[in-house]
Amino acid sequence: MVLNHYQGKPVDSVEEVSIEEVKEQYRGYDPRIKRVIDMIKQPISRWPLLVTGPLDSWSNREKNVVLMGDACHSMVNHMAQGAATSMEDGAFLAKCLGAVVDGKLSIANAVTVYEKARMPKASYKQQLSFLNGWLWNLPDGPAADARDRSMRGELEGQIRMRSANLYGDPITVLECYGYDVEAHATDAIAAWLNGGRPVRDATTTVERLEAEKVANWFLPEGHKFQIRPRI
Ligand SMILES: Cc1cc2nc3c(=O)[nH]c(=O)nc-3n(C[C@H](O)[C@H](O)[C@H](O)COP(=O)(O)OP(=O)(O)OC[C@H]3O[C@@H](n4cnc5c(N)ncnc54)[C@H](O)[C@@H]3O)c2cc1C
Repeated sequence: MVLNHYQGKPVDSVEEVSIEEVKEQYRGYDPRIKRVIDMIKQPISRWPLLVTGPLDSWSNREKNVVLMGDACHSMVNHMAQGAATSMEDGAFLAKCLGAVVDGKLSIANAVTVYEKARMPKASYKQQLSFLNGWLWNLPDGPAADARDRSMRGELEGQIRMRSANLYGDPITVLECYGYDVEAHATDAIAAWLNGGRPVRDATTTVERLEAEKVANWFLPEGHKFQIRPRI
């Protein structure tokens, strides 16, 4: 069983914890939590939640060795995004290496496209995860009350534009869980081959990712917004 709480002192290695300390930490909680804690068997360990980076680079100078996953962007757990982000890295890099196999990119350029696109995304997830944990662990008081008020509408069945519950907040859900990594990779590769400029519709200037976000996600085949770049 994993229990999660905030404490002021940073933890940087696994520590042994006494059952008395755990009971003290969860004193005043719901009796059901206390009953669960009474069932804990020794030994109990405290694990640090470690964040890696943001690093300046994920690759070597020759751009033929590259990092992915926790090795370059371990994050705290509060958005359940560590493994998800690692798998996104794999999917993105696979698309870039596919372009190498197709003769469109060199390995060094494939690694560069991957790093340029994935580093900001991983950094975003790290920050989001940390901030969500910070919100969850606010001490009782005005800030926690404001957080709870902002979430209350969801319990009453309202659809809100914003919520402190990041698992339901429309902006965060779209950016974090609605992210299409393969579409992002396809666009990033196309932009690289287009001299670093995004590929746009020649008449309207709309980009494919924007068309996907706004309209194409719900439109049936044959009715989607078409991107026709100037040839
Ligand atoms: C309790 C817990 C709950 C989590 N819940 C979620 C969740 O709900 N959703 C989510 O998305 N993520 C979650 N995560 C995070 C997720 O597990 C990690 O982000 C993910 O496993 C990272 O994958 P990775 O392949 O980068 O690294 P790892 O899974 O750590 O894989 C690295 C591998 O390399 C091996 N290795 C290390 N050194 C060497 C060496 N010298 N030689 C050979 N092999 C080596 C290790 O043994 C390991 O198998 C959770 C993590 C924990 C601890």
